[in-house]
Amino acid sequence: MAGNILGTQVFYDADCNLQALVGKKITVLGYGSQGHAHALNLKESGMDVQIGLREGSKSWKEAEEAGFVVKETGDAVKGADVVMILIPDELQAETYEKSIAPNLKKGAYLAFAHGFNIHFGKIKPAADVNVFMVAPKGPGHLVRRTFQEGSGVPCLYAVYADPSGDTKEVALAWASGVGGGRSGILETDFRQETETDLFGEQAVLCGGVCALMQTGFEVLVEAGYNPVNAYFECVHEMKLIIDLIYEGGFETMRKSISNTAEFGDYITGPKVIPASAKEAMRGVLKDIQDGKFADQFLSDYAAGYPYLNEQRKQSAAHQVEEVGGELRKLMPWIKK
Ligand code: NDP
Ligand code: MG
Repeated sequence: MAGNILGTQVFYDADCNLQALVGKKITVLGYGSQGHAHALNLKESGMDVQIGLREGSKSWKEAEEAGFVVKETGDAVKGADVVMILIPDELQAETYEKSIAPNLKKGAYLAFAHGFNIHFGKIKPAADVNVFMVAPKGPGHLVRRTFQEGSGVPCLYAVYADPSGDTKEVALAWASGVGGGRSGILETDFRQETETDLFGEQAVLCGGVCALMQTGFEVLVEAGYNPVNAYFECVHEMKLIIDLIYEGGFETMRKSISNTAEFGDYITGPKVIPASAKEAMRGVLKDIQDGKFADQFLSDYAAGYPYLNEQRKQSAAHQVEEVGGELRKLMPWIKK
């Protein structure tokens, strides 16, 4: 039954009423990473789900082959009781203006898997629209795979607007239907989810980790060491360490490494992430809170992604990728 983890409300399947969604017409917009997972899991939980995509969409055929009725976005929104927007964040505001808002039924439920557009005011739903979020804390393929295995990825859920008075029940039913109630559905709000999600991926998970690995690789190679050794030590082995932390926290990881590695861990960690790095992280957080990052990202999109494309080109050309490509050929078992 519902519980509490460090002050956060947690709900499980037994606390959720799937009947809040059964019989409702559900439209999932997008059939990508999250879209296919939400749609298939909900369908197998007994829900009436159709898919909305833009004309000419690459995912159209795949969704049809999975047994869904697929319609163009505006047509898929018409008559739907619940509309979950699972298209890229930067496309959502214009899609909302053009195809969703004009077709959205009065009193419908509008749902998101990330609070970005609501929190930064890029989408402003009408007063009669119920708004909630169910954000699985994992990529779509994991949401799907764990569901098929009988478990599920924990989800965050939040209610932003509740004119009908039962949006929480509908949100919990959604989270349970995609498998979240098998591990835990944790309560949050749009601000918390959006700002911590962006901060985590930028400062730590994607930005921080990649910069750390690449810089370590460069230091060794520039000092004359073999790029093969540099790659193994600074990039390849990251997964082995992360797996241990994932499994049992820092303590499990530190128990598994040598005393030499653990001693170096304590002595060197604060040297590479000194107080100034923490200051830089605070700056990153401020840009997220102010909406500066959101606007930077959206203007790059509006201009045709000049920055994003240039960064992709530069990253692909870095020596670390070439070395990694060669070394992975020695380990074909890595793929699948
Ligand atoms: P993807 O890029 O994987 O999928 C996008 C899907 O939307 C594709 O099927 C694409 O089809 C379709 N699409 C694109 N533009 C339109 C449009 N204008 N109208 C209709 N369909 C369109 O997205 P994600 O699943 O990564 O992200 C979706 C949401 O989920 C985002 O809000 C994201 O922040 C959130 N989220 C993502 C997570 C993840 O692991 N990826 C984790 C948690 C939340 P096509 O391009 O073929 O036309
Ligand atoms: Mg994220």
